[in-house]
Amino acid sequence: MIDISEILENFRAFIKSKGLKYTPEREEILIEILKYKDHFDVDELHMELKKKGSKISKASIYRTLPLLIEAGYIQEVYKQEGRAYYEVVINKLPHLHFICIKCKKVEEIIDPKLIELIQEHAKKKEFHLLSYHLEIFGTCLECRKGGMV
Ligand SMILES: [Zn+2]
Ligand SMILES: [Zn+2]
Repeated sequence: MIDISEILENFRAFIKSKGLKYTPEREEILIEILKYKDHFDVDELHMELKKKGSKISKASIYRTLPLLIEAGYIQEVYKQEGRAYYEVVINKLPHLHFICIKCKKVEEIIDPKLIELIQEHAKKKEFHLLSYHLEIFGTCLECRKGGMV
């Protein structure tokens, strides 16, 4: 489980350490993002906030996301047609993304063997791992059934 109050406290310290101002907007954005179990993009997030009566602009979301990435709370999963998708990475195991280039569906594959393999290679190279995610592009079964390749 994600402990929101602890994260908010960390985030406040992080913003301060960067010499930035901690605004209620940033906190609101982070709280909303932490609810996502799946991938999301800025439009989706903006709509969700708007539905709740928030006046947060897309511009301030765009300004806040890089901070959340830097703080290690979220990561960019993939970019498609100028749209970037993100996911919360707190308490989440490293995983693969199978991305269908036709319907844009993203499937997550979490496999301990894969994580072991990456850690093994990192050890060999004396490379210190910070974060990782893998994107694999192709076509899903449904799309191929539809005769689309
Ligand atoms: Zn597909
Ligand atoms: Zn993912």
